[in-house]
Amino acid sequence: MSDAPLSLVWFRDDLRLADHPALSAAGDRGGKILCVYVLDNTSVVRAPGGAYQWFLHGALEALKEALEEKGGDCLIVQGDPVALIPELVQCTGASAVFCHHRYQKEAREQDEAVSKKLDTLDCSFIQSHGTVLRNPESVTTKSGTPYKIFSAWWKGFQALGAPPSPLPVPKHLTFRDIAIKGKKALRPCAIDELLLPSKPDWGKKMGEYWEHGEEAATELLHDFAHAALGRYDTGRNDMAAEDSSRLSPYLRLGTLSPRQIWHYCKDKGRAPDRDTYLSELGWRDFSWYTLFYNPELPRRNLKAQFDKLSWRRSPKQLAAWQRGRTGIPVVDAGMRQLWETGWMHNRARMIVASFLAKHLLIDWREGEAWFWDTLIDADPASNAVNWQWVAGTGIEASPFFRIFNPLRQAAKFDPEGDYIRRWVPELAKLPNDALAAPWAAEPGALEKAGIKLGRDYPEPIVSLDEGRDRAMKAYRQTRGS
Ligand SMILES: Cc1cc2nc3c(=O)[nH]c(=O)nc-3n(C[C@H](O)[C@H](O)[C@H](O)COP(=O)(O)OP(=O)(O)OC[C@H]3O[C@@H](n4cnc5c(N)ncnc54)[C@H](O)[C@@H]3O)c2cc1C
Repeated sequence: MSDAPLSLVWFRDDLRLADHPALSAAGDRGGKILCVYVLDNTSVVRAPGGAYQWFLHGALEALKEALEEKGGDCLIVQGDPVALIPELVQCTGASAVFCHHRYQKEAREQDEAVSKKLDTLDCSFIQSHGTVLRNPESVTTKSGTPYKIFSAWWKGFQALGAPPSPLPVPKHLTFRDIAIKGKKALRPCAIDELLLPSKPDWGKKMGEYWEHGEEAATELLHDFAHAALGRYDTGRNDMAAEDSSRLSPYLRLGTLSPRQIWHYCKDKGRAPDRDTYLSELGWRDFSWYTLFYNPELPRRNLKAQFDKLSWRRSPKQLAAWQRGRTGIPVVDAGMRQLWETGWMHNRARMIVASFLAKHLLIDWREGEAWFWDTLIDADPASNAVNWQWVAGTGIEASPFFRIFNPLRQAAKFDPEGDYIRRWVPELAKLPNDALAAPWAAEPGALEKAGIKLGRDYPEPIVSLDEGRDRAMKAYRQTRGS
């Protein structure tokens, strides 16, 4: 029998081989490696949404293929990681488990529980920071307290110099077979059945928009860095142009790391575009940072004064918003892009979120939950931070009284109406001046385009002026005046 040590590499939100500190550390240790992914079926960590699961399926298949090319594989099991990881250690005799830190409280507690159990088995639990640019705890104010405002945090972040350079794919890896004898719970699970939608197969449509795996993500990064990055400062706000990187789903599952993106882009394009892009990447880290220090972020207003706000309950209006049937074309365009592709342009995310939380005065948590289920990049940090930012309820937030006007937003960020025409095709024949507000079109314009409101496209479910005034009134009540 060989004395070479066996290491488990526990993959989580890091489904790649390059810049994978945990995999590299296991490789450096020598001996054999067993790669494992656990589909967590406990309710300890929030259950993933449908769109995310669809994208996860592709990422796991791609990871398995990449490992197979290196002579390995990934064991995918379903259950409670706190039971399964120690069980796997016991069955295989592994003496170390390598993985990356996670930053949400529930996941950290789960990791602690695993670590404690491994201790009793004489197995080390070795974690490194592999899913963010920087460990959240490394960026603190002079007094040691966490930052609350992005600009101040960003200064503190930059003062630490460039984030660590990405690591290459480890050269020499030797793998253990993934077959585990006798243990039913440790048999590979059927990811097609567990992760893919069947009736109806709504994932089929999304498949037309996304490729999976590390190679596809790297290609996307390279294409972006050599073209759209050079006009990012303005291009990122044009909803019809595909000028943002669209890397968020890959970052979410870790098919690409933020450090790889940072270091690849840091000397490309012009300074203003590049700086804006890197600061957006910074927002992702800042979101994890905010969640790390505020575990209740996805559930509670960070500004307690908003606990007094009387949100409206309107299942009918919520459903109209979810399905892109509000009668406000730019809102419907965003929501339909989300439904079909599993992703939405950032500008559109802000517009639809503001419309829900302000014009409809529906609790931002309803919107957060819908995004959680329908975004392939749904992540507990960025989703909640941004919803609270738009709703005005976060610590770092746009003031509540800043209410996006969907018509002005459409005029500025979709001036030719291409985005609306793409996603709300029933309005495509309307002239530009009628497209964003068909209810206010010149007499005859609708008829000429063959549209009858209420029949071919909904009447607005709320008057924009009245919705705005109602939101302001509700907001004033939270201030007690
Ligand atoms: C209401 C709302 C909900 C959101 N929910 C999510 C979510 O669940 N997951 C998610 O990844 N992003 C979320 N965002 C942030 C942002 O919209 C997306 O990250 C961005 O649209 C992704 O597209 P991209 O990769 O082309 O971005 P790019 O413009 O190319 O930016 C590069 C990367 O920077 C990060 N980034 C950019 N903007 C932000 C931001 N405002 N906050 C945090 N990170 C950012 C992303 O990782 C992104 O991939 C949300 C925004 C809003 C307004």
